[in-house]
Amino acid sequence: MIRTVSLTPAVFHLSEAVNQVSRTYGEAPIVPRGPRLAPLFDGVRKGIQTALGAPEHEAVMLTGTGSTAIAAVLGSCLRADERLLVVRNGAYGDRIFEYANTLKQPVVDYSLPYGEKPDLARIEEILAGNKADAIAVVHGATSTCTLNPVPEIGALAKKYGKKLLVDGVSSLFIEPMDLDAWGVSAVMGSCNKGLHSHPNLTMAMVRKDLLAEMEKIPARAPNLELWKAWRAQVNGSHPYTIDPMSLCQVSAALAHLAAQGGVAGRHAIYQSRTDLLRAGYERLGLTIARWAGVPLQSIGTALHIPPGTSYDVMAQRLATEEIEGHVFEIYAAQGKLSSTLFRIFNMGEYPLSVYEIFLRALARVV
Ligand SMILES: *Cc1c(COP(=O)(O)O)cnc(C)c1O
Repeated sequence: MIRTVSLTPAVFHLSEAVNQVSRTYGEAPIVPRGPRLAPLFDGVRKGIQTALGAPEHEAVMLTGTGSTAIAAVLGSCLRADERLLVVRNGAYGDRIFEYANTLKQPVVDYSLPYGEKPDLARIEEILAGNKADAIAVVHGATSTCTLNPVPEIGALAKKYGKKLLVDGVSSLFIEPMDLDAWGVSAVMGSCNKGLHSHPNLTMAMVRKDLLAEMEKIPARAPNLELWKAWRAQVNGSHPYTIDPMSLCQVSAALAHLAAQGGVAGRHAIYQSRTDLLRAGYERLGLTIARWAGVPLQSIGTALHIPPGTSYDVMAQRLATEEIEGHVFEIYAAQGKLSSTLFRIFNMGEYPLSVYEIFLRALARVV
């Protein structure tokens, strides 16, 4: 049987622990309001908090994907009149900007070309001049495969007493993060990216002092009210139907993550993949997309489309021409970058040898 390897960031092969749940859950389904839900919620919420080393933050689970978490955080953590500084230099920063506008949040827009490093002096000027009450920024910038300077922005948020809302959808559980030390008020997360579960459930991490404040903040995203969901979850329920099988899968994914050595262990696995792959890309004469002063993320790499071919041709050949029992699905770049860049992610449960085979496949198409 030919194995199709996902070199994409949201759906890929998962651990046997998670697959085991998928195969067997139907034999003994858990009733969403029954007595077996409370311990499941407790285990998952505490497991996330422990895995992320974030005792000052509470995990809130929601049905949906990373974008659901963006909407939930924006619609639950801010008062309607708070001025939100949106620092955006990629496709997901654009999404935060779009959702904030939909919610009619007053926005201070700091927009940069994709990939470019935000200017900390400019951010400080806005905060020092009291022109914003909160900041939103993406940590792992998936459209460029780079990391934004969240610790530095967080230091400014702390200095000026502003809320900091971070999109950690593609960095949580993979990149080392210290939510408390960085001054992060709330993080938008996911369960399918770094946690290696299915894209059915998502989550947000909210700092306890902000949660207390949120009791008095009217929620503006119906169905995604974080305070209401948290209150219910502490008592072992959820305001709406939530899929217990997905919670079981997340629970299994957390156990698997712990067995790999937690976030540090997973980060090391991802780093060994990017070390192998980036050296391979350079040997093949490919150019890695880089921006001055900006570190690369460990979930994948954006590359320039080599002359003489196109993304579609490369993707089609990699997906159909078998090599050593494998075919590969790669990923286009987003929006304005798609004519010049493409992306190769190294997420999911694959042995390092799969990436060596991939480099041989790539050599045939570039
Ligand atoms: C994947 C991703 C999202 C959410 O995307 P969904 O399509 O809702 O899963 C948000 N932010 C970042 C940085 C992402 O990588």
